[in-house]
Amino acid sequence: NPVVAVVGRPNVGKSTLVNRFIGRRQAVVEDKPGVTRDRVAYDAYWNGRQFTVVDTGGWIPDAKDRAAAIARQAEIAVDTADVVVFVVDATVGATDVDEAAVRMLRASRKPVILVANKADNNAIEIEATSLWSLGLGEPQAVSALHGRGSGDLLDAILAAIPEAPVIVEDRPRGPRRVALVGRPNVGKSSLLNKLSGEERSVVDSVAGTTVDPVDSLVTVGGEVWQFVDTAGLRKRAGQASGTEYFASLRTQAAIEAAEVAIVLLDSSEVISEQDQRLLTMVVEAGRALVIAFNKWDLVDADRRWYLDKEIERELKRIPWAARINVSARTGRAVDKLAPALRTALASWEQRIPTGQLNQWLTALVQATPHPVRGGKAPRVLFATQAGVAPPRFVIFSTGPLDAGYVRFVERKLREEFGFEGSPIDISVRTRR
Ligand code: GDP
Repeated sequence: NPVVAVVGRPNVGKSTLVNRFIGRRQAVVEDKPGVTRDRVAYDAYWNGRQFTVVDTGGWIPDAKDRAAAIARQAEIAVDTADVVVFVVDATVGATDVDEAAVRMLRASRKPVILVANKADNNAIEIEATSLWSLGLGEPQAVSALHGRGSGDLLDAILAAIPEAPVIVEDRPRGPRRVALVGRPNVGKSSLLNKLSGEERSVVDSVAGTTVDPVDSLVTVGGEVWQFVDTAGLRKRAGQASGTEYFASLRTQAAIEAAEVAIVLLDSSEVISEQDQRLLTMVVEAGRALVIAFNKWDLVDADRRWYLDKEIERELKRIPWAARINVSARTGRAVDKLAPALRTALASWEQRIPTGQLNQWLTALVQATPHPVRGGKAPRVLFATQAGVAPPRFVIFSTGPLDAGYVRFVERKLREEFGFEGSPIDISVRTRR
């Protein structure tokens, strides 16, 4: 998400304004002069678009002690922002502190929107025009408390961040799309037959959706699912399957077309390089994943022991993927597939509110800060979830983070919020 930093000296009404942006009362408290507050990030929505608001403490330039710390916080917030909302108290007019802030903002070269807050009535609004003198363009007269002018301000903010993503409220209605993939003879068509045969559940259509003729609509666990490119599965081995290259292209396309993939492995055989390639394809395509070990009826105690070791070794990189042991022949645990698919998809679409995410992250980086590199340790500032399907997070920091530290954050993120069955993408944005 684009980041909007709200900056201004203490008591100009920054928090009230942030409350306006986020549209509901969160634990944002009014400034008290001289009281340090950490930057806190929130999700904001306007006109179907989305951005992150960072609320800063009151900014006092060249001040000592706690006030200086607040100023630092605000400067960092400005550095990481795409656009700055600079708040001035219209009932007071421009002060020396405001003018010093303007110099800092100019130096940052960030787009700045000047807000004349507390313009509760026309008289103050007219008074506010004197703020042109700050040289930041037209002051936006706003009453954060009463809401006056805040819609126009939000329009101006969005105009300054044209890349703000459009929120897609609901995914289009229709069955969830599943890719059933696995190397030849692993039992894909047997499993599909089992799923569609047992429940007598192949359906021709679902109201209001169009389904590609190569796909199949199958009822599994009381829900209709769209298995993509089942035409590719039904071909008998050797016949018209093409070269491995084309088979793999087709598999890739099926994965891309799906929301969730079932990677079918043969538990009677070792996990092969081809199996690994399929898993990688799913992870790199950013799709939800369920791993099913087929032919479980052939697994005896001996094989089971070896398989456990193999899984530990071969699937270490995707500990988050659900694993189920099935038999397309006997029907064993086939009923576990639908719940696993649902869990994976829920993780895939999970959104963590920015406030909650940052509360957790602040505690985490306090308990386990980034190791020192070249005499300094980069500081994690805040994070935001930039998207879902799969969940994508952006961490803002004062410098590049070690890959190991990012993995640590991912592991802890999963411990805290779940995400079973879904890859997660974490990127790091440093101060510019
Ligand atoms: P596909 O190439 O992945 O579609 O695999 P098929 O469904 O054609 O199955 C390949 C072979 O494995 C066939 O001989 C199946 O009967 C056999 N098979 C599939 N599932 C199972 C299973 O769960 N247990 C056992 N023992 N054999 C299976």
